[in-house]
Amino acid sequence: MNAPLVEAVDVRKQFGDNEVLKGITLAVAPGEVVGLIGPSGSGKSTFLRCINHLERIDGGELRVAGDLVGYREHNGKLYELREKEVAARREKIGMVFQRFNLFGHMTATENVMEGPVGGLGVPKAQAQAEARQLLTRVGLAHRLDAYPHELSGGQQQRVAIARALAMKPQLMLFDEATSALDPELVGEVLDVMRELADEGMTMIVVTHEMGFARDVADRVVFMDGGVVVEEGAARDVIERPQHPRTQEFLGKVR
Ligand code: ADP
Ligand code: MG
Repeated sequence: MNAPLVEAVDVRKQFGDNEVLKGITLAVAPGEVVGLIGPSGSGKSTFLRCINHLERIDGGELRVAGDLVGYREHNGKLYELREKEVAARREKIGMVFQRFNLFGHMTATENVMEGPVGGLGVPKAQAQAEARQLLTRVGLAHRLDAYPHELSGGQQQRVAIARALAMKPQLMLFDEATSALDPELVGEVLDVMRELADEGMTMIVVTHEMGFARDVADRVVFMDGGVVVEEGAARDVIERPQHPRTQEFLGKVR
């Protein structure tokens, strides 16, 4: 296996007295798609937020692309990252949330251009051309100049995916990207995610769509109570879960 793109070793996180991640160990190889499933409150979002520098971990080690999250190393010592360093590292990671959070006063194209122009200093004309390409890739060539309120939820989420891709991330994190959508709009977003996976993007996908996890993920990880209870090849975990808690969970969501 190539050096992992994400490497978590005994990652711990607590909010006050509430230990939410109780030692998560997980490696994700470049190009791998990991489906992260588990009941509400099991720590899935917190884990993704730790990977994306949105939460500080309280124990263990977490590396993305070889870099320690939250710290940099120098002569064997650890130093906390400065804000600028965190920002630079976060640029490697795209994250798509349940809520799309597009800028309401900007068109689809402008939403996608914003990060490259504002964050990376890409010239506007180039960023605009790339934004149009990305929007075309997610099936929105006909809505380039639409404002978010003129778009369906599925279209808005596809703009959000294009916006994340515009930063040319090494890793994409999806946190229940389809949970807020009307059922008839879920498929078009999953299709875009499936294409990304097929193109070799490294992805961690928190989802309640078990069919998607089974078919698209290489590996499925079942979390409960802040620990990884079971993991394995996607089809094995979804169709033949070994652990009683996994069996119970899958029995409920099916
Ligand atoms: P999941 O995404 O699996 O539903 P979360 O990671 O959102 O789980 O939450 C795990 C636990 O952490 C829950 O008990 C939740 O209430 C708690 N939690 C999450 N974020 C915070 C926060 N910012 N402050 C306090 N508690 C939090
Ligand atoms: Mg969550």
